Amino acid sequence: MSSDRPAVHYLITPSRPAAHLFEVRCTVSTPDPAGQILRLPAWIPGSYMIREFARNIVAIRAEADGKPVGLEKLDKHSWKTAKLRKGGDLVVTYEVYAWDLSVRAAHLDDSHAFFNGTSVFLAVEGQADRECLVELRRPEGKRYRDWKVATALSPAHGRKGAAKPHGFGLYRAADYDELIDHPVEMGEFANAQFEAGGVAHEIVLTGRHDCDLARLSADLGRICNWHIGLFGGKAPMNRYLFLAMIVGDGYGGLEHRASTALLASRKDLPWAGMEKQSDGYRSFLGLCSHEYFHTWNVKRIKPAAFTPYDLATENYTRLLWAFEGFTSYYDDLALVRSGVIDQAAYLELLGKTISNVLRGPGRCKQSVAESSFDAWIKYYRQDENSPNAIVSYYAKGALIALALDLQLRKASGGRSSLDDVMRLLWQRHGTTGVGVAEDGIFAAVAEVGADSGAALARWLRKTVEGTDDLPLARMLKDFGVAYEASAATKAPTLGVKTSQANGDLKLATVFDDGPAQRAGLSAGDTLVALDGIRLTQANFEELLGRRPAGSEVEIHAFRRDELFSVKAVLAAPAQDAIKLSLAPRPAAAARRLRSGWLGDAA
Ligand code: ZN
Repeated sequence: MSSDRPAVHYLITPSRPAAHLFEVRCTVSTPDPAGQILRLPAWIPGSYMIREFARNIVAIRAEADGKPVGLEKLDKHSWKTAKLRKGGDLVVTYEVYAWDLSVRAAHLDDSHAFFNGTSVFLAVEGQADRECLVELRRPEGKRYRDWKVATALSPAHGRKGAAKPHGFGLYRAADYDELIDHPVEMGEFANAQFEAGGVAHEIVLTGRHDCDLARLSADLGRICNWHIGLFGGKAPMNRYLFLAMIVGDGYGGLEHRASTALLASRKDLPWAGMEKQSDGYRSFLGLCSHEYFHTWNVKRIKPAAFTPYDLATENYTRLLWAFEGFTSYYDDLALVRSGVIDQAAYLELLGKTISNVLRGPGRCKQSVAESSFDAWIKYYRQDENSPNAIVSYYAKGALIALALDLQLRKASGGRSSLDDVMRLLWQRHGTTGVGVAEDGIFAAVAEVGADSGAALARWLRKTVEGTDDLPLARMLKDFGVAYEASAATKAPTLGVKTSQANGDLKLATVFDDGPAQRAGLSAGDTLVALDGIRLTQANFEELLGRRPAGSEVEIHAFRRDELFSVKAVLAAPAQDAIKLSLAPRPAAAARRLRSGWLGDAA
């Protein structure tokens, strides 16, 4: 619905790129006469951490009828105006500092402007369900003459100044929730268009790159088509935008209802003449696939705890293993099922996920349900002890999805699968907007699993609330996949993760109950010598490799600026490098299950 006088009108200009400042003018046509409260979100949906975006507002003032109005700060992210005369507009003008090169906030210099609405648009209390108009204005100066706009926000069709494709001008959102779910990029970007499921898709690349856009579009097109097909063939959005910032070294993505913001490394993009698909390109496609799956799973099928979001504080759910873990399972699975990678490449990726989970001792202490609930203070705020204390609801959640998928397929002789669970969730929750209750996934599994449903739902509940390792070797065997565990290196281990700083060999993490911890070494210690020989990052593995497991070594190290020495007993390396491969001669039943699971392509 639209009216002639929209409730809230935002004008945003990248006004001072060199100072990384956006100017925002928010006009409220029907403010609360008792004093209008305005508030910036404390977090951005999809990234479960309190970020207090209001800390980047550097100047703010209010006017009504052309005269200044008092503005009182209520708390870290809220303001309230003085009493207002009825019938007048309230105009709040502020600057936002934007120098965070991530997918979560805002970034502005004279090469481009990027923002998420959560960083720049104050919410007008009491009017969150009103229509919003957004005018995007080009910065002044010759330098910005060729800037274009990329966003999945809808142009304000039918209104004066409505934006043209890739244009500055007027856009609209039905409400505040929609307003902040469409990141905006401005600059001189490269782009390519493709179609999937009858819907226009676009990929936009900002930053220097030598990407083969035709190849990337073709691969993304196959992946997007596959996802749309999984959910019944009709896409829930009428356009989709991949918005990628290309940098020397970076990785990240954040999902939105009709777009995704990505941060990617230049070397991970395909180039003209690239013959073999690089690991980096595979991982970039996996990232795109992940964010695209979220278009259904978490943007529309949502935990009840997110309907609606409370952007002022933490929103707790124990279900991120389903919303992030299932998404992590389907991201790579979509690559093989759409034929973008082959089965051997998929099994290699899956083996890496299993290895990653097995390498974290925290998996024995925290369940994925607990990890979901505490994402705000643990997964998103990792430190040197995190590998000992937490489990990733992404990686272990993906393995739980795999185990669930394999069991559903086996119990039904391949007639039902996790795909059916996703479709059921889509019908019940995605198309209706009804949130998924904290036990809603178990209920869906019980329903899809038919005769074995109740037992599978009990297994799932026990698994997500527990810390046991999954019996994947046995499960995969039924699908004609061989599981082989070996040590990642031949060298015995000290049980540490190291990092290099200024040429020093530093301990980043000391694993629980490993040789280094037993000897008294700590994260942050700088190792200087092993049995009297100077240690560097380069010779660390090599020196360990020349000693047998069980032998004692003397280590000299600094803690702060104090030198000390310890004796440590080296342990045998863990058998935690998992290699999966297609079993050469699987039984007919296993072959059928395997091709149902991975598709028919060899
Ligand atoms: Zn995700």
